[in-house]
Amino acid sequence: MNQGLCILGSTGSVGQNCLRVVESLPDRFHVVALSAGKNLEALAAQVMKHHPCIVVVSRPEFKAALRARLKRLGYKRWVKITSGIEGQVEAATHDAVDFVVSASHGTTGLVATYQAVCSGKHVGLANKETLVAAGELVMRAAAKRGIPVLPIDSEHCAVHQCLRAGQVKEVKRIILTASGGPFLKTPRRLFDSITPEQALKHPVWRMGGRITIDSATLVNKGLEIIEARWLFGVRPEQIDVVIHPESIVHSMVEFIDGSVLAQLGVPDMRIPIQYALTYPDRVAVSEKGLGLDLITAGRLHFGKPDSRRFPSLDLAREALVRGGIMPCVLNAADEVAVEAFLNNRLSFSAIPRLIEEVMRQMGAHQTINSMDNVLEGDREARERAAQVISAMSA
Ligand code: MG
Repeated sequence: MNQGLCILGSTGSVGQNCLRVVESLPDRFHVVALSAGKNLEALAAQVMKHHPCIVVVSRPEFKAALRARLKRLGYKRWVKITSGIEGQVEAATHDAVDFVVSASHGTTGLVATYQAVCSGKHVGLANKETLVAAGELVMRAAAKRGIPVLPIDSEHCAVHQCLRAGQVKEVKRIILTASGGPFLKTPRRLFDSITPEQALKHPVWRMGGRITIDSATLVNKGLEIIEARWLFGVRPEQIDVVIHPESIVHSMVEFIDGSVLAQLGVPDMRIPIQYALTYPDRVAVSEKGLGLDLITAGRLHFGKPDSRRFPSLDLAREALVRGGIMPCVLNAADEVAVEAFLNNRLSFSAIPRLIEEVMRQMGAHQTINSMDNVLEGDREARERAAQVISAMSA
């Protein structure tokens, strides 16, 4: 069967890589829906190439702009252009869609991804915020319908592959690897003077702004602990993190008999994307550069994360233990903090402090029963984060 795809976040780095994978597998996939934010130039080029029947932009005023751009480019086919969260939901639950790739930034794709799961679509998740903010809800909905939620995050894709070697009850722990980001060896006293330009230079992966900063603070790894907890149904204390600067071992699973399985590969997102899209099959890759040469890779290093310089891992564990809305609060506070850091309104070392403060303020335990609970918690955390930043800079 040739599967119809919806890509939420098609102009981002995962979205673009996803389309490269789709182009290499024309017998298996075709694009039904594309959703992007404001990069209309890239979106128009994707429409020209992939002929989706529905396209979503972030704001209503972009619809006419995209339509005009397509006309200038001589695009003759019919395409529905819609906008906002409603548009995303329409695209993700479209009858012709079989598989939804959730790769939009932050919490923008949250509602559409959840609705896709509820309407029985298979989902590949590159957007970790969906599981961080609403993991319990999303996984419950998927389990009820017996549909898979497949990770596209490279670490979780690795764990997913390793878990095929045993049963969940045989798992002792999951070991997520972390590159450690650009400040792995930077002394703590210099953290206050780290600039956005320095933080945006990731040593291995090329990604969007927020995730690059999150990799530098290790918040990204904290979010991945939460993500792993929901994806694989393990207890928080069964998830460990090791620093592995080369990013060749993408993660590992230790079983109760002492065996540790690892998944290795070149750090290229096309590998986890293709794995998720073609699962449970494995399909040969045609493009060069996706094979791993261990001799060239040379030595691989592993180390313990320094929780004094990078408090985010402990904050993520705390959020999981406190449960309910708290992981959503951590995520929302971080998103606000990163934006403030990129605008020079917050120092690098204040990012985890801000998250901690917002988590403290939202102290009372709130459970999650619906997507409305999630969106309300997300909104409140963002407001509080903005207030704390104003108070800090006053
Ligand atoms: Mg990752």
